[in-house]
Formats: sequence, C-alpha cells, structure tokens
Amino acid sequence: MNQNNLETLRQQVEDKNLEILKLINERGKLVQEIGKIKEAQGVHRYDPVRERAMLDLITENNDGPFETSTLQHIFKEIFKAGLDLQEDDTQKGLLVSRKRKPEDTIVNIKGEMIGDGKQYFVVGPCAVESYEQVAQVAQAAKGQGLKLLRGGAFKPRTSPYDFQGLGLEGLKILKKVADEFDMAVISEIVNPADIEVALDYIDVIQIGARNMQNFELLKAAGAVKKPVLLKRGMAATIDEFINAAEYIIAQGNDQIILCERGIRTYEKATRNTLDISAVPILKSETHLPVLVDVTHSTGRKDLLLPTAKAALAIGADGVMAEVHPDPAVALSDANQQMDIGQFNEWITQLRSHYSYKA
Ligand code: PEP
Ligand code: MN
Repeated sequence: MNQNNLETLRQQVEDKNLEILKLINERGKLVQEIGKIKEAQGVHRYDPVRERAMLDLITENNDGPFETSTLQHIFKEIFKAGLDLQEDDTQKGLLVSRKRKPEDTIVNIKGEMIGDGKQYFVVGPCAVESYEQVAQVAQAAKGQGLKLLRGGAFKPRTSPYDFQGLGLEGLKILKKVADEFDMAVISEIVNPADIEVALDYIDVIQIGARNMQNFELLKAAGAVKKPVLLKRGMAATIDEFINAAEYIIAQGNDQIILCERGIRTYEKATRNTLDISAVPILKSETHLPVLVDVTHSTGRKDLLLPTAKAALAIGADGVMAEVHPDPAVALSDANQQMDIGQFNEWITQLRSHYSYKA
C-alpha cells in the first residue's frame, strides 16, 4: 500500500514538473514579446522597478511551505533566464554575426580578396621611419609576390616620450611606396579627425588594440568606404571584440577584417598570449575574415614561424608580421621585427608547409 502511495506521489511530482516546464516556457515567450516591443521603443530590457514589483507580489502571495527567500531566489533565476533569452535574440541580430549573414564577407583590398578561402600575408615595419626604409621592405615583400604592406604613421606608444610616428608625412611615404610598387597599404589611425585625410593615402584603416573600444573612432571608420582592420583589445573578450566590429558595420561599412594580436595574461614568456582558438570562434560567430598578428602577440622572433603555422593551420585568412630592413635601429619594436633575410626564410618555410595564395 505504501509502495503504491509513493508511486502515485512520484507521478504527481512529475506532472507538476511538466506543468512548471510548460509555464516557464510560456513565460519565456511572453518575455520575448516584451523584449521585441522594448527594442522597438529603444528601451532598456532590464527594469529593476518592475523586477522589485514582481518579487513583492510573490512575497505577498506565498503561503508556504517554502521560505520567501527561497522563492525569491528561484524566481530571480527565472527572471534572469528571461533576460538572457532576450539577449540571445539581439545577439542573433548582430550585423557581424554569421546567424545574420551565413556567407563569408570578402574584403577587397585593391583586388586582394581577403576572406575568399586563400591565405594572405601582411608585412611591413612597425613604424614608417623613412621612404627608403618602407621601400626596402616593399621590394622584399613584392619579391615574394605579396601585395599587402603595413606600416604605422601614427604610433600609439605606452610612453609619451617614445617615437610617436611621422603622422601625415608617414602616410605620404606609404602612398608613394604603394604607387611605385603597386601594393596596398595598411596603417593605423588613432584619431577620428584623421580618418578623412587618411582616405587619400591608405587602402586599409587599422584600428589598434588600444583603440578597440574607442567608439567614436569605430563609428568614424564605419562611416567611410574603406576597409578596416580591427585589432583585438589587449584585455578584450571575444564578445567585446565582436561588438567593437558591430560599431563599424552599424554605420554601413562591412569591409572589416578582424585581427587577433594576443591578449594580456599572467604569462610573461611572451609579450602577449596568442589566443589561437579565437580564430575559429570568430570565424564561426561572425562572417568576417580573421588575421593573426604573430609579431605583437608573441613579441619573439623565434615564435614567428611556429605561430604563423598555427594560424594558417587553424584557418586564419592571413598572417601579419613586422619586417624592418635593420631592426636593431628601428624606432619601435626593435626586438621583434624580422630583417629582410629572416622574412624571406620565414615565408619560404611557411610556403613549404602550406599551399595558399602568394
Ligand atoms: C601595430 O600593429 O602597429 C600595433 C600597434 O599593434 P597593436 O595595436 O595590436 O598593439
Ligand atoms: Mn609594432
């Protein structure tokens, strides 16, 4: 008899579980509806006043046996799940997300189609120092069949007393070299006010790690018709990185390349910690091409080859590395730039392992 009773009670508990399940999902649907209305009105999803009122109503109607605090805890979890559901809906709506656009975005840089499945190289000095310096690297890169040249004219430096870059003069040098060698140039812009003038000189606007959440700069880069190379902030999560790209695309510019350049961790063996798994995550979460900067992520010449191999193997759309004709006298990042001979060796090694464009 007791056994039968137990079975009956167990059955009733299971029925209640199913009822609760049904109610929770019904509640979820209602919350989603509310989320849509709030989004249309541009109102915040989380409303603490309303949440307090809902909790009070539960307190007033609690006849036990549960303690009110226990129920408040359970209901707060239910409320939170509802909010998460609304978040997921907006996440689906991100313009950079693959859910929104399943096909790969291809970024056209003077005919180099980044994201087309081939793997590209971007090389050049950390900073533009002189015409001769950039031209020498351009010649070496061109000799290897490359078309994409990098070089900083505006250098965001940790110390205000370090070389800050040649500014506009640096952009002019890049343009001259690009024209002479029929190459495309990528250079960092740090000030929204400089975007407009940079359009005449460079082919890709780089937004550096230190500016990944400089929202005014992101918006300014999004408002022009020029490819943007967006580097991951040194302490940015992948989600923050994706949202930074969203700032650009939201202004109408979808020609965005993401660049993993290492993040700051407790590890001191490398300058930053290369988050290699960010590459396939970014490629599956977004439709944008992804590059790996092996120079700033490692800060070590001996790691440029193995990390570049890893980047190519994991499916990056390209690799960026710094090359300087005489790294010992470079005005920035002297320790980690390859000289021309090392660059030739590096790219030859990579080519013997992988088959890809240029
Ligand atoms: C750079 O690429 O020149 C640079 C400064 O890198 P990051 O912004 O990743 O530090
Ligand atoms: Mn550098």
